[in-house]
Amino acid sequence: MRVIAIDGPAGSGKSTVAKALAARLNLDYLDTGAMYRAVAFAVIQKQIKPSQIEEITEIAKSLDLELTEESCVVNGVDATTEIRGPEVTSLVSQVATMPEVRIEMVKRQRVWAETRNGGVMEGRDIGSVVFPDAMLKIYLTASEEVRAARRAAEVKEGDVATVAADIERRDAVDTQRAASPLVEAEDAIVVDTSEMTIEQAVEYVVGLMP
Ligand code: C5P
Repeated sequence: MRVIAIDGPAGSGKSTVAKALAARLNLDYLDTGAMYRAVAFAVIQKQIKPSQIEEITEIAKSLDLELTEESCVVNGVDATTEIRGPEVTSLVSQVATMPEVRIEMVKRQRVWAETRNGGVMEGRDIGSVVFPDAMLKIYLTASEEVRAARRAAEVKEGDVATVAADIERRDAVDTQRAASPLVEAEDAIVVDTSEMTIEQAVEYVVGLMP
């Protein structure tokens, strides 16, 4: 199976690089962050509190998710825009700390890759947990300033300082959680994209293909 794992913190350029890489290599692409965002969206829709862990686990297990590169439909509702919005963004990392939620998402991610014999998968724990045998593991990173500036340009709302604070908060939760925290997998190649354009980052990663 040809799995390429792209992990790293928010704003490191993962999505753009992973999508470009998938197109270049003619492989499918999976944004696993969108899956956790979809769970958070369903939690908000059903007006469940973050403390209701059993209910959230149930939501994750029964989630009807249709995710493509262009759209995200959650339990029959088009959530393409909402999963990137502030409400979901502020809840997602908390939902992603829940081991039962992770077990369900990881199961789905493995099925996704197995049914197409691989693909480019981006997230936080792909190389460390989901596919420790991935053929290539990249840990993308960038300076805090660059990551905040990129996210601010992407979301088109909120100033850079607000976005920076949000990234910092999510990174803290993601790296400190007990269940599959964000880590550099031992055999991951660390790529700092602070000084690179997207094209340069893609070229660099393509050059790392075994
Ligand atoms: O990649 P993105 O920033 O959209 O991910 C949203 C959140 O989902 C992350 O901050 C993290 O809490 C969670 N996530 C995760 N494991 C993954 C992908 C995302 O915990 N593989």
